[in-house]
Amino acid sequence: MSDATFARPDLTTFCRLDELGLEVIGQRLEPDRAVLACRVIEPDQWCRRCGCQGAPRDTVVRRLAHEPLVWRPTTLEVTVRRYRCTGCGHVWRQDTTKAADPRAKLSRRGLRWALEGIVCQHLTVARVAEGLAVLWNTANDAVLAEGRRVLIDDPGRFDDVTVIGVDEHVVRHEALLFRMEVKDLDRFAVAAAG
Ligand SMILES: [Zn+2]
Repeated sequence: MSDATFARPDLTTFCRLDELGLEVIGQRLEPDRAVLACRVIEPDQWCRRCGCQGAPRDTVVRRLAHEPLVWRPTTLEVTVRRYRCTGCGHVWRQDTTKAADPRAKLSRRGLRWALEGIVCQHLTVARVAEGLAVLWNTANDAVLAEGRRVLIDDPGRFDDVTVIGVDEHVVRHEALLFRMEVKDLDRFAVAAAG
């Protein structure tokens, strides 16, 4: 046996939620899906307008589709605190941008899983949607938006793409994403090695 040591089991790190600024505080396992109750680690209590301290007002729940774990769709129910500024009355929510884009329905890990599924494993959007337990449109919109973002971030990538926005057939969209995202994944691989 190797001399590897073991840390205490920890659902937060096992599900890579620490990377998203979240901590697991509860789990609900159902036969065909898992729900993880999470909280946002960073308090984020300082007013963005005047810098005064905010007083906790209430909480809202944000649901995010995470990457499926042990072949089971995994949904995050993130409790997000809302504050009211004691100085100017401004109200805001805890920042959850590490976990997901504003208004996104997929966590960043969930989105990553969807892209890798389509790019590397040639999964259909329907299969990705099933894995995330979201509607087909939700999965499709998220993947297309991420593909577009990658293109916009680097206008040079348009050099090789000549058919964007022309073909409305869904399968062709996936083919286009395949071309874009392979480059993106290449870039990630290089970044990791460097
Ligand atoms: Zn304020």
